[in-house]
Amino acid sequence: MELHLPATPRRFEMFIDGCSVSGPSSADIVRQSPAHGVPVSVYQSGTAREVDAAVAAARRAFDHGDWPRVGGAGRAAVLLRAATLIREHREELAIVETLESGKPITQSRGEVENAAGMWEYAAGVARVLHGDSFNNLDGGLFGIVVREPIGVVGIITPWNFPFFILAERLPFVLAAGCTAVLKPSEFTSGTTVMMAGLLKTAGLPDGVVNVVTGYGDPAGQAITEHRDVDMVSFTGSTAVGRSTLIASARNIKKVGLELGGKNPQLVFADADLDAAADGVLFGVCFNAGQCCVSGSRLLAERSIAGPLADRIVELARKVRVGDPLEENTQVGAIVNEKQMGRILGYIEQGQQAGARLLCGGARRPGTGLFVEPTVFSGVEEGMSIATDEIFGPVLCIQPFDTFEEGLALANRTQYGLSATVWTSNLDTAIRASREVKAGRVWVNTTITGGPEMPIGGFKQSGIGRETGLYGVDEYTEIKSVQIQLGGRQRWVRE
Ligand code: NDP
Repeated sequence: MELHLPATPRRFEMFIDGCSVSGPSSADIVRQSPAHGVPVSVYQSGTAREVDAAVAAARRAFDHGDWPRVGGAGRAAVLLRAATLIREHREELAIVETLESGKPITQSRGEVENAAGMWEYAAGVARVLHGDSFNNLDGGLFGIVVREPIGVVGIITPWNFPFFILAERLPFVLAAGCTAVLKPSEFTSGTTVMMAGLLKTAGLPDGVVNVVTGYGDPAGQAITEHRDVDMVSFTGSTAVGRSTLIASARNIKKVGLELGGKNPQLVFADADLDAAADGVLFGVCFNAGQCCVSGSRLLAERSIAGPLADRIVELARKVRVGDPLEENTQVGAIVNEKQMGRILGYIEQGQQAGARLLCGGARRPGTGLFVEPTVFSGVEEGMSIATDEIFGPVLCIQPFDTFEEGLALANRTQYGLSATVWTSNLDTAIRASREVKAGRVWVNTTITGGPEMPIGGFKQSGIGRETGLYGVDEYTEIKSVQIQLGGRQRWVRE
């Protein structure tokens, strides 16, 4: 099926207390497709006023509404209906996602499908959420540990996986019985607003989910500072993550952070090199490298580093970069001019520092923001391309000689989001998985998983975990209840 650009941009309102809400129309945000350079969406530019209204609605829904008081079965029913509605609107959601983000349409369809799976899984989690009991306490005490929803959760999401990252958080927030205020990226807000509409159709009570579109500052900032927000879940850059932590100190709100990464791909000499070359290339090119778990550092055992690099370069030249609306495209557009400038800036810094450019390295001429898969060898520790999150399809190759040296190199970074190990030796695979400091590890594959598996970062890559059974625990408070059985021993002696 041939897809076409929309004749006019689609307009998205905000969504507060079950209703579509406009912002000040003078300040509309017009989103251009980064692949085609034409306007595709118009969003409202929300301010602290709309954040106040959204938080008030979420607060009312939490303090006085049904949602936190409904049983797990009732919550699960809504989440399952949401999953069905996502599938029914799969194509529409995928097209909006591709037009706004620049990612290939086949990838968008996959992400929408996987998002539906997240909503289904979270429905199950709503029914297994439970506490604990202690029948072994001294002094005739019986102890119960209960989990309660934490309250109003602010969810601030980035532009790289707008619909999928939302699905890694929102259904778990709802499964826990919380209410939410969402602030999507100013570049890719469309599918988040659409999701709020689907949730209303699915039967979610008004006020439980609210969406304020607009800029990080003021809209995102107002959420992080708000005294009536009990928790903020932020996904994005480490710099804004740090400012979120500081802003949250105002009312000591709980903070969940998923931030950047500079993720190693360790290839040992005994690996299937053909499979590793393909996997390494996928790991750095997926979503045009604009991926927090992008495997952007290739650490290769010295004896195979040369042939592996040759194979990766040979494959890189075959990757189909281009129009994301075409079914065959594998790598779409970079999200905006700022990000493109950042990627090209790092490529220039790498060349100036003496790294060897093996392929790519340039922006494609013509309409759209496209950059070729880029591979550097001769990368030294301390070069900015070796240490900084570039967020583009740029691979840096560094050799190592021993297992210990490879792992030390992998761990010498401020980040700890993910790592990939390529080897045919079980012992090496398990030892490397144990020793690498990262929240997610892949062995002989990369960037895959399922709703059952938790995600999150070590070190400066984040705080907390999303998805899996851990993902719902994040959005609960734990309360311990001590019950005296058989009467309490008197304190005052008469
Ligand atoms: P940001 O961290 O600025 O954006 C992420 C989200 O935070 C967006 O919704 C943004 O809104 C919002 N935001 C921005 N400023 C504030 C604020 N003061 N308070 C609250 N929320 C705020 O990422 P960028 O878009 O600037 O990307 C820069 C770099 O960040 C990338 O090159 C990449 O290295 C990294 N990044 C990492 C991501 C990850 O998944 N770990 C995702 C995205 C980026 P708005 O878009 O409206 O400004």
